[in-house]
Amino acid sequence: MDVTAGKCDLCGGGYHELLFTGSDRLFGTPGSFQLLKCQDCGLIFVSPRPSFEEMGSYYPQEDYDLYGKAAGLKDRSMDELGRLLGPRKNRIEIYQQPGKLLDIGFGDGSFLYYMKENGWDVAGVDYNERMVDLARDELGINAFAGQLEDAGYEDGSFDVVTLWGVLEHVQSPRRTIEEISRISGEQSLLVIYTQNAAAPEARLLGPDWFIYEVPRHLYSFNRTSLARLLALSGFCVSEVVYETPLYYCQMNWQYFKERRLGRKNDVVHAPSLADRLAVKGLSLYKKMVDGREWSSAMTVYAVKRQNADG
Ligand SMILES: [Zn+2]
Repeated sequence: MDVTAGKCDLCGGGYHELLFTGSDRLFGTPGSFQLLKCQDCGLIFVSPRPSFEEMGSYYPQEDYDLYGKAAGLKDRSMDELGRLLGPRKNRIEIYQQPGKLLDIGFGDGSFLYYMKENGWDVAGVDYNERMVDLARDELGINAFAGQLEDAGYEDGSFDVVTLWGVLEHVQSPRRTIEEISRISGEQSLLVIYTQNAAAPEARLLGPDWFIYEVPRHLYSFNRTSLARLLALSGFCVSEVVYETPLYYCQMNWQYFKERRLGRKNDVVHAPSLADRLAVKGLSLYKKMVDGREWSSAMTVYAVKRQNADG
């Protein structure tokens, strides 16, 4: 564990506001963590920070079993995968013709598999060795097990690098983005999906905001802190797409109910009528405000500049 709150990973600042002290609410693994906000740049981070090795214990295998999903990929039709993944592919192809693509933290591998079947030359990194073996042996994907920094890709290797819900989990976003910049070609595209800490419910709900996900989300960003991080490594934000997944609304309602109303039930899999109405209301409200940077999640599209001065 990194027990010193120390310096901010983004700006190096040493003054941090304590947002709250929390614990793992999703899986109930032991431990108490502070959520701090840098007074200089607004980056939000967990302290103490579990190390890369320790992070494994916060992902109980039974709840995180992606294996079956990945193993079944080849049996699914491209139409079916396209309904889920087509929008991602289409937006990426506004920026880049099919070329070399790296997905960091590829999970079940569905995105890489779908892109490969659509003419992209794909590679992936994931910490889960079992998933990496499956991606390599069954799906024919060039996959590496471990952290990006250890993969040793050559300078300027990739046209597109993607991180879908991954940057908030890495040990040092600054180091990760620096490494991505090194292995990205000029004018290449970087796509990052992450939670949006500027969402108003982050302040309203605090420890009940599902998306803080203590301690798995080591960092929480807003548009400004993320753009600043990317600029340090020569990436310029072209576009930000905001959205609020239904699952986030369900989990926010569940956490709120647990703590404030003292009632516990599985809102995602066994919702009551009241749960359904509450979640519907929340998601309608979020749809109304999503265009105003108040959504719960964002996808940032950034392009590597010709003469990076970062
Ligand atoms: Zn900072």
